[in-house]
Amino acid sequence: MIKIDQDKLISILNKKWEYRICPMCGSGDWIVSDKIFELREFNNEYINKYDLPIQPLVTITCKECGNTVLINPLVLDLLSK
Ligand SMILES: [Zn+2]
Repeated sequence: MIKIDQDKLISILNKKWEYRICPMCGSGDWIVSDKIFELREFNNEYINKYDLPIQPLVTITCKECGNTVLINPLVLDLLSK
């Protein structure tokens, strides 16, 4: 399982987001995941095949309401090489 540098992500978000509240509930308490999830492109041609186009995503979830923001770790250079 590949994990990201959570401290680096939080540092980047603090600079880029500064203090952002949740647009759904107004809370400012977020949970930053250290795990990477996958979002696949849906296409009938790919069902039951293994060569799916996949986007890696890190979740940032509001502690109050569960609203979740998805960040691409490739853009922020968070994947270990
Ligand atoms: Zn919220």
